[in-house]
Amino acid sequence: MRVKLSAETLRNELVRRIEEISGEDLLKCYQCGKCAAGCPVAFAMDMLPSQVIRFAQLGLVEEVLDSETPWFCAACQTCYARCPKGVDLSRIMEAIREIVLQERGDYIDLSTLSLDDLAEFPQQAFIASFRKYTA
Ligand code: SF4
Ligand code: SF4
Repeated sequence: MRVKLSAETLRNELVRRIEEISGEDLLKCYQCGKCAAGCPVAFAMDMLPSQVIRFAQLGLVEEVLDSETPWFCAACQTCYARCPKGVDLSRIMEAIREIVLQERGDYIDLSTLSLDDLAEFPQQAFIASFRKYTA
């Protein structure tokens, strides 16, 4: 993958929105990987928690928005407890979910889901979806 490094791409609007909504400074992360090593649902993620931050640090937010990882995050804050830099990834994941819902419309149309689907889907997806209407 080719990455264009410039002030414009590294600090693009979506990067700033993640920081604004989450209240977290993405540049604090120095990629030690402790968050990913301790995350209880990392096995199900298509992008590790530390990789989510790395992509965002490089301005590659569209890749982050396409990832399923934020929807698997259980907001358990194990990563926050382990992070030597005090980065709260659960807030970053929530910010990403919010942006996906704002940018891409109704990510989940509850009326089209069967009961079997509802039993399988990550609970965080529903919580984030409801927050869209209650924030
Ligand atoms: S534990 Fe903290 S500093 Fe280390 S990779 Fe994760 S977010 Fe970055
Ligand atoms: S808050 Fe989310 S990313 Fe962090 S350890 Fe828990 S499930 Fe993993």
